Amino acid sequence: MIFHPRAEFLPFCRPSISEEDIAAVESVLRSGWITTGPQVAALEESIARRTGAPECLVFTSGTAAMHLLFVALGIGPGAEVVGPSMTWVSTNNLVELCGARNVFVDVDRNTLLASPEAVEEAITPRTKAIIPVHYGGAPCDMDPIRSLAQRRGIHVIEDAAHAIGTQYRGREIGSAGTCVYSLHPIKTITTGEGGVITTHDRELADRLRRLRFHGLAADAFQRGQQGRSPQVEVQEPGFKQNLPDMNAALGVSQMKRLDALIERREEITLRYRNLLAGIDGIEPLSDPAWPHRHARHLFIVRVHPERAGLDRDTFMAELKKVNIGTGLHFKASHVHRWYRENRPLPAGALPNATWNSERICTLPMFPDMTDDDVDGVVAAIRHVLSRAPMTTGART
Ligand SMILES: *Cc1c(COP(=O)(O)O)cnc(C)c1O
Repeated sequence: MIFHPRAEFLPFCRPSISEEDIAAVESVLRSGWITTGPQVAALEESIARRTGAPECLVFTSGTAAMHLLFVALGIGPGAEVVGPSMTWVSTNNLVELCGARNVFVDVDRNTLLASPEAVEEAITPRTKAIIPVHYGGAPCDMDPIRSLAQRRGIHVIEDAAHAIGTQYRGREIGSAGTCVYSLHPIKTITTGEGGVITTHDRELADRLRRLRFHGLAADAFQRGQQGRSPQVEVQEPGFKQNLPDMNAALGVSQMKRLDALIERREEITLRYRNLLAGIDGIEPLSDPAWPHRHARHLFIVRVHPERAGLDRDTFMAELKKVNIGTGLHFKASHVHRWYRENRPLPAGALPNATWNSERICTLPMFPDMTDDDVDGVVAAIRHVLSRAPMTTGART
C-alpha cells in the first residue's frame, strides 16, 4: 500500500477547548473582576467535590504549588526527598533549590511507577518526604507507600500532575493524603497555566493559603468583596502564586467534561494498542496490576532499536518528516546535564529509568483526535519502520 503523509502537522497534544469554555472565559473578562475571585473559589470547590478532598487550593502552576508545599513542610537543608528520577524535572529542581537532596529510586520497567519496595529501600533517618508520581495517569501502589510513610513519620506528596480523574482501588486520587496536580495545557484539564493541591490536613491548607498570597490572612478577593479590613496583617513572609479568575473559569468549565475527556482518551488508547499489537519493536507501556482507573494522560511507547531498526531519536525525526508530532515524557532527571555533573550516580544505577529514558516516545494523544488521526499515526509508524534500518547518513 502506498503511504500518503498527512497534509497538516498532527501535534502530540492539543488542549480541548469548547465554545462553552470560551464563553466562560469571556464572561470573566466582561465582569470587571479578572484576578483571583469567585471562579477560583468555584474551581477549588469543584475539584474538592470530585476528589473527595476536604481542602483544595489552586495556584499559578503545579511547580508553584509544589514549591509552597516544600516551604510549608520545611523541606530544606539536611532533608532528603525520595522519588523517581523518571519524572518532570520541576520537582527534582525544587528539591535542589530548597537546599535538600533528591534520593532517586528506580521505576518499574514497563509501568514507569516507583514500587513501595524501592521507596522503602531509599529511606534514611533524613528522609522528610516521599513523592510518588502517578505516571501518565496510572496510579502508584499507594496503600503500602502510605503505610510505610506513616510508620516512619514521613510526608507523602503525590505528584498527580497526570492523574486528575485517576482512581486507585476504587478510590479517587486526592481522596486521601496530599496531592499536587497541574493544569498546564498538556494535562487532562487546563487553565492555561495552573496547579492544584488537595489535602486532608486543614492546618497545612491554611498555611498554604497564606503562603500563596504574601503571607496575609486573607486574599485580595476576600478583602475586596467581603468588606474585610484592607489592613490584614502579614502572618509570615509569603509568596504571590494566586491564579487569576480568567484562568480559573476555563478550569471550572473543563471540569464538567473531565469524564468525557478521559473516556475519549481511553478509546484512543485501545485503538492504538490494537493497531500497534502487530508491530515489532514498538512497545507500549503496561497498565499496573492493581485495580485502577487510568486517566490515559500520555500514550507512551518504547522504540527497541535492535528490532525496529532505528533508535528513538531517529524514529521521532522520521515521524516529524511525515507530519506526525511526538514528545518525550520524560528524560529522567539523573541523565540531565546538571544532575550528571553535580549529582553523579554510580555506573548502572537506576537501570530501568535509564533504559526507558533512551527508548520512550509519546505518540499523539488528545481528546479531539479522530480515529482516522490514530490510524494515520500507526500508518506513518509502519512506513518509517519499513524504511529502516537506515544508515546514519540517510537519517540526517
Ligand atoms: C506537568 C508536571 C509537573 C509540573 O506542572 P506545571 O503546572 O507545569 O508546573 C510536575 N510533575 C509532573 C510529572 C508533570 O508532568
